[in-house]
Amino acid sequence: MENSCVSDELNKFRNEVIPEILKQPHSVSSTNQMGFPPSSPLLNSQVQRKVSIAGYHWYETELTSLVPSNLGRSNSIYNMLKSYNEIFNKLEKLTIKKATKLELCKFHDEEFVNFLLKKRNISIKDSSQLEAIKKYQLEARSHGVFDEKNYHEDENNDIIEDDEKELFKFGLKFDCPLFPHMDEYIQLLAGSTLSSCRFLMKNHQNPLLKQPIAINWNGGRHHGKRSKAAGFCYINDISLAILELRKTFSKIVYIDLDLHHGDGVENSFSFSDKIMTLSVHRKDLGFFPGTGGIDNKGKGKGLKYSVNIPLKHGLSDRSLLRVIDEIIIPTIEKFKPDCMVIQCGGDGLSTDDFKEWNLSIKGYGEAIKSLLSLHHPVLMLGGGGYNNSQMARLYTYLTTIALDIDFKFDILPDDLNDEDYEFWNVHEMNMIDENNDNYIDELKRIIGARYGF
Ligand SMILES: [Zn+2]
Repeated sequence: MENSCVSDELNKFRNEVIPEILKQPHSVSSTNQMGFPPSSPLLNSQVQRKVSIAGYHWYETELTSLVPSNLGRSNSIYNMLKSYNEIFNKLEKLTIKKATKLELCKFHDEEFVNFLLKKRNISIKDSSQLEAIKKYQLEARSHGVFDEKNYHEDENNDIIEDDEKELFKFGLKFDCPLFPHMDEYIQLLAGSTLSSCRFLMKNHQNPLLKQPIAINWNGGRHHGKRSKAAGFCYINDISLAILELRKTFSKIVYIDLDLHHGDGVENSFSFSDKIMTLSVHRKDLGFFPGTGGIDNKGKGKGLKYSVNIPLKHGLSDRSLLRVIDEIIIPTIEKFKPDCMVIQCGGDGLSTDDFKEWNLSIKGYGEAIKSLLSLHHPVLMLGGGGYNNSQMARLYTYLTTIALDIDFKFDILPDDLNDEDYEFWNVHEMNMIDENNDNYIDELKRIIGARYGF
């Protein structure tokens, strides 16, 4: 009942207030410097938040920054977040242990895990990648944690040649190439997301008194399969997380806001009626991964527990907010979960290299505010996003949304090595939204009929 009331009021706020705000020129802020009015009384609820952060430690950011598809990104994100002391100090810092092989095998196939964790020397030619590797190794040596016996600088002779067929079988040939220290990265990434789960499991007792939110911006690798890497995802830390959370929470909803369909997570739980997966994504012929049609709704006992919202080119803030408030939230309210996992992929931002969607950081923040206002314990993870400096802004801003603080972002702190000096440095977003009102109405009609709203 309470959630329905929240939804009614939210819808009113969204339908009447937000569209007006979104019409305003992006660079003009009549209300506050974020372009949105101060949180509504509803959004700025009395429910206090307890927010943890993982992935920030130098060891994690340097290692995660080695992932070839997101070179340097983790350093950019966490350097920006840490440069705002007033924000970073409010977060509970989690200490991370590497996940064990046994923990990885809770979801992944053992043969695949053994292959991923095999110690190997890998020859790298790309100069930016080499630079990142040297930087990590230098730091690791200075902290006395460098694994000398497995990495040698003066050789090329003891490089292990992996069998091409095996590389192909495990998805490590094309967009997930092997890279030095990959084994350490994988264990740390999984450990980091699992520690975030344990924070929620420990603090979930009364989310209405203190809503626990655990953040790991390095996580959110939604394309990883049981025995195959895919789409820049070497393992699927989300599926591992959901299995861990199930030890405490009986029903979990997973919401995937990445530009791409959350196929790996959906496949993992397509037979379950305890895990509902909801994915909004760009869907078109030839667009990766190609799955996620509206008729794909789960299998067997899990029928109706996979929800796919395929969207077209140019998705605007307004359309995303309509999808969140008019489709996703009513669906979640019908499911009545006791925990929420959000994959916050940022490749739908207007500034992303994909140039497919037209989302702004502020609009994304509004979508997250809506989801957090349901007061579930929430695991917030990263995802895609290929413009490092914009991803740093997005995740720093979303951290303030999680903390429920109205932080005045203006000029970036001096010590940040960003190409720009303003936090809000995007003023033009020119893209036609092919997701017109009729299209969103139709999606709402189909999914509404399925869930009875
Ligand atoms: Zn993506």
